[in-house]
Amino acid sequence: LNDFPTFNESQRWAADYEKTLLHYDEKPQPKITDITLEADIYPDAPKIVSRGTLTFENKTAAPIGEVYVSWPRAQVQKSFIGTRITPELELKSLIVPGARIVRDYRDFNFRVYRFDTAMAPGERRTIRFEAVREQRGFRNTGNEERIVDNGTFVENYTIAPSLGISRWTLLEDRATRRKFGLTPDLAPLSEAQGRKFNYIRHDSDPVNAEIVLTGPVDQTLLAPGKQVARSVNGARQTVRFRSEAPMMNFFSIQAARYAVRKDWWKDVSIEVYHHPAHIYNVDRMVSVTKDALDYYSSNFSPYQFGQFRIVEFPAYAKFAQAFPGTVPYSEGAGFILKIDDSAGVDYISYVTAHELAHQWWFHQVTGADTPGSTILSETLAQYSTLMVMEKRYGPAMVQRFLKSAANGYLTMRGKDNVTEPTLEKVQEQAYVRYEKGGIVMYLLKDRMGEEAVNRALRSLIAKFAFKGAPYATSSDLLAALRAEARPDQQQLITDLFQKITLYDLKADNARAARLPDGKWRVEMFVEARKRYADRKGIETEAPLDEVFDVGAFNVDPATAAFRPVNVIKVEKWRLRSGRHRVAIVTDCKPSFVGLDPYLKYIDRNAQDNIVPVHF
Ligand SMILES: [Zn+2]
Repeated sequence: LNDFPTFNESQRWAADYEKTLLHYDEKPQPKITDITLEADIYPDAPKIVSRGTLTFENKTAAPIGEVYVSWPRAQVQKSFIGTRITPELELKSLIVPGARIVRDYRDFNFRVYRFDTAMAPGERRTIRFEAVREQRGFRNTGNEERIVDNGTFVENYTIAPSLGISRWTLLEDRATRRKFGLTPDLAPLSEAQGRKFNYIRHDSDPVNAEIVLTGPVDQTLLAPGKQVARSVNGARQTVRFRSEAPMMNFFSIQAARYAVRKDWWKDVSIEVYHHPAHIYNVDRMVSVTKDALDYYSSNFSPYQFGQFRIVEFPAYAKFAQAFPGTVPYSEGAGFILKIDDSAGVDYISYVTAHELAHQWWFHQVTGADTPGSTILSETLAQYSTLMVMEKRYGPAMVQRFLKSAANGYLTMRGKDNVTEPTLEKVQEQAYVRYEKGGIVMYLLKDRMGEEAVNRALRSLIAKFAFKGAPYATSSDLLAALRAEARPDQQQLITDLFQKITLYDLKADNARAARLPDGKWRVEMFVEARKRYADRKGIETEAPLDEVFDVGAFNVDPATAAFRPVNVIKVEKWRLRSGRHRVAIVTDCKPSFVGLDPYLKYIDRNAQDNIVPVHF
């Protein structure tokens, strides 16, 4: 009854799963086009009864004779966002009309159905299912954490079957894979094969969805889409949501006793659902949502939904995540923290703008299942966020985010026991696609200009948004950027995306003197170098020829007291490798000067960029 696997057992099971079933992943399968999902939520059981239909289409050019159906099995996984418990989904019924079971892998919750007559290209068929996610009694481990008295949050793939093997299940960590007799890396798909699938679900392109939630009448029930109907029956209510346009088959269901703060941006309804007492950051979330909707819709493309919802969930996990038009946001990541932004780092706005950016960078343009394609989500979301931060707080303050990202990147690459990939080919290394990615895009914006970078991103949207397969890869992003870059900026794109490049930038010996006209002339020495690291971290110096900021300030930009008003002057200087004497003239008396003072380049030692001025 209460036999939940340990972490080690889960890993062994996942390895067996891969050894037994991975070959099925090579066989063409139909793709889901339409979903109806009914979920009856019983928070105090805790239990969700789900039922629905999956309509799927043969989008290949040949007949398909078999369909593979799988559903979640109890499992414990660990990832960079923490431990993930997948509860068992107990399948009550699964009906595949016109097909019979020819293999039933009971240990893996995986079945092979053979059609009496094969699906012709373009043909659609339907599966019906009913299932229960439920905990009976208490266990030592694997207790249901996500269906709770007040604050239920479950993902759709945990309460419904999917087609083909479950890729969520496969082991990623190299050491673990070796331990269980697998190849060190899950072999990536070829570019041509990978473009047929998005990296989240092989069994779906964007789908139409109708989601019907039933639950306690005193809770707010939420799913993506527009709420189209609601009815009350005693202590229970039923709420119906419908997708306004095809959306990624990757969404969440939430239920709790919420207070809601509503506002509008143009005709988009902004809704923050929160615990009635957790009000500290709600205004800030609404305000940054408006700024971000402004920036993204005017620079990328229109926002695709009629609503944007931020929905608090309890601190059983500490992340925020972007589903279509809906962002589950942990109380531990943004609601119960009274933030102190005196140092100019507004983490709440940052996370909110990042998750909203995924409505473009994932939900409009979705990466293929190829190495590097997650930069189309995370790196572009980081870039978008930095642009919103720049508009809100000024270019001089973006350095706070760049500094923290650079620290994260440099620390994590030092700890990585695998080998560091380039941004173009990044796979599981989150610190490359998030931390490095944001810095890289912001530098490129600085060098190419905001308009050129955003034109490149709009060209990606024009080519790929909402289109399903073939999905975009990191090569598409690079091609779009290269098409907008000048000849003298091509090397920088190579350095940032296709190599692992580190810079050593420093300033010293700054002296200022008053000029006869009352201005100040500051002279300093600067040193600039560029090194390429290989995958093992071995570094080689390479010739540098780039443009850098040289700035003068009356407060050290690296200190908490620094504000945009403390900038006296920032100039662009083109520098080659080596030590140079540079001089700038300022209107008022500078106290600090420096090379790359805002940390736009990834510099292993950011402490020596700024120096006090001597007189
Ligand atoms: Zn993200």
